[in-house]
Amino acid sequence: MKKMKTSRKGKVVIVTGVPGVGKTTVLSAALEICKQSSVQVDLVNYGNIMFEEASKSGLVKARDEMRRLPVKDQVRLQLSAAESIKSMAEKGNVILDTHMFINTPQGFMPGIPSWVAETLKPDSIVLLEAPPEEISARRKKDAAIRAREADEPWRITEHQLLGRSGAASIAVQTGCTVAIAHNMEGKHMEAAKVIADLLR
Ligand code: ATP
Ligand code: MG
Repeated sequence: MKKMKTSRKGKVVIVTGVPGVGKTTVLSAALEICKQSSVQVDLVNYGNIMFEEASKSGLVKARDEMRRLPVKDQVRLQLSAAESIKSMAEKGNVILDTHMFINTPQGFMPGIPSWVAETLKPDSIVLLEAPPEEISARRKKDAAIRAREADEPWRITEHQLLGRSGAASIAVQTGCTVAIAHNMEGKHMEAAKVIADLLR
């Protein structure tokens, strides 16, 4: 089967990683590198787009409540967010800050199920990873501002491994590439360069 051609002008790079690994931190640095090298890119946070709609329809008051909504509501919000992001990518490069699997009371829910992957047609997926103990410490540091999930290192390891399987499945399904970027303590610029290089 041939890969479908689209009229899209930009690339779509999806950046995933477990909560607290440092996606938002690393992506703001990647955006700065892109600006300095005159590469135009829109940074989009999937959860923010879903939250805009969820709060408009009165489903939640806070962003971190979304993962406790019934899965069917999350899926509906997810699909409509994918359509909005697809329209953005028609105009230029998009970096998408998202999660490969969301920990819900019903089990891990895929952040990029096949219908979202088919809508977004990513060029690359970046798995942002860090040692579980460091992620656990980052979550504890942010506890006052973010209601993140449990932080035992073995659970974080499990979640990161699941993320790799998800990226592999999407790569096989869509033909996108997969890059692993390590966000080591105090070295977020190194991970940011890996991401910015995908857009050059
Ligand atoms: P979420 O998925 O919940 O939005 P996130 O992956 O976007 O989380 P951030 O909010 O960027 O994570 O980072 C979590 C915490 O870790 C923040 O306090 C941030 O300052 C810190 N942090 C991020 N990267 C590093 C790093 N390389 N070294 C040290 N601290 C870091
Ligand atoms: Mg974030």
